[in-house]
Amino acid sequence: HRDRVDNFNGGPAALPVEALEKAQAELLNFAETGASIVEISHRSKAYEAVHQQTKALLKELLEVPDDYEILFLQGGASLQFAMVAMNLLDNEHTGAYALTGSWSKKAREEAARVGRVRTVFDGAESEFRTIPGVEQVVPAPGDAYLHLTSNNTIYGTQWHAFPDTGEVPLVADMSSDILSHRIPVRQFSLIYAGAQKNLGPAGVTVVIIKSSLVARAKAIAEEKNIPVILRYDLHAKHDSLYNTPPVFAIYLMGLVLEWLRDHGGVAQAEARGRQKGKLIYDAIDNSDGFYRGYAAPDSRSYTNVTFNLPTRELEQAFLAGAEENGMIGLGGHRSVGGCRASIYNAVSVEACERLAEYMDSFRRVHG
Ligand code: PMP
Repeated sequence: HRDRVDNFNGGPAALPVEALEKAQAELLNFAETGASIVEISHRSKAYEAVHQQTKALLKELLEVPDDYEILFLQGGASLQFAMVAMNLLDNEHTGAYALTGSWSKKAREEAARVGRVRTVFDGAESEFRTIPGVEQVVPAPGDAYLHLTSNNTIYGTQWHAFPDTGEVPLVADMSSDILSHRIPVRQFSLIYAGAQKNLGPAGVTVVIIKSSLVARAKAIAEEKNIPVILRYDLHAKHDSLYNTPPVFAIYLMGLVLEWLRDHGGVAQAEARGRQKGKLIYDAIDNSDGFYRGYAAPDSRSYTNVTFNLPTRELEQAFLAGAEENGMIGLGGHRSVGGCRASIYNAVSVEACERLAEYMDSFRRVHG
């Protein structure tokens, strides 16, 4: 696809071209219905098959145990910041937060509007360059849950091991690294992710929640009488079909998951991710300090590689040159600036090779 760029956007981000092509091919006449997927009832047999297949693929790829529910919700990961607290926090308990970046701070702020919160780790002291060691993240008996952000999209840091929180449910925002590497789902009681990086288009949010936690959430939600649309138990009971789900986003997520399955699943995504990350981190590490990685080396993310150049002017020239070479989305998040290469599952090894080559040649000219 010569007309497609090397896409390093942070999110919404690159999707597999095979999935987009399949969606294009079946857009006008989906599954012999004579209509598109967005023009038929979400109660139709054709949509029901999409809904169930997408769920089954996610369960298979992530190896989700049977005693977990998989929900397709709306409102983005940001709604989960609120829903986690609304459904899991009662007056007797505290929501514990490991703060490793802007998104975990937002999650904590939202929960603080609902109930009592506390901070178990504050990465602000290291300018969010580091992830704590698991021994630094210790739940207390009064914690309703412990929340962490598995990958910090903006700062480019990632948890490489997760704390054992015992009886206290571990809750994780995995928006920017879900399906990029294997994870021990059993260690978590609730995982959520907005779709617009590794899963598909914006519009659907995946929630994977232990059935026993749904039961606890039901009791808390009833006690607090929160609106039904914000309750996990309601969505679990209706298999995410209480109201109209985001049908197109779920459908396209299903095509993305098929593509992932056909390309070796999560294990292969992880192997490719290591290779892709190494290409870019090597370009940083072998640049005699011209490129400076933002994250502490042992906390580096394999989905968002963040770095700076010696000056703002050089960064601007670097980004402009990248665009001329067909590479887009390399500017850092608007809140921190600098550069960021987001290398989600659909970004090829070849695209990362081209970026690493461009980084080397830019340094030879400007370094
Ligand atoms: N958490 C993380 C880790 C993210 O990267 C993002 C968005 N980039 C969000 C939460 C917010 O997601 P949304 O826009 O879907 O609410």
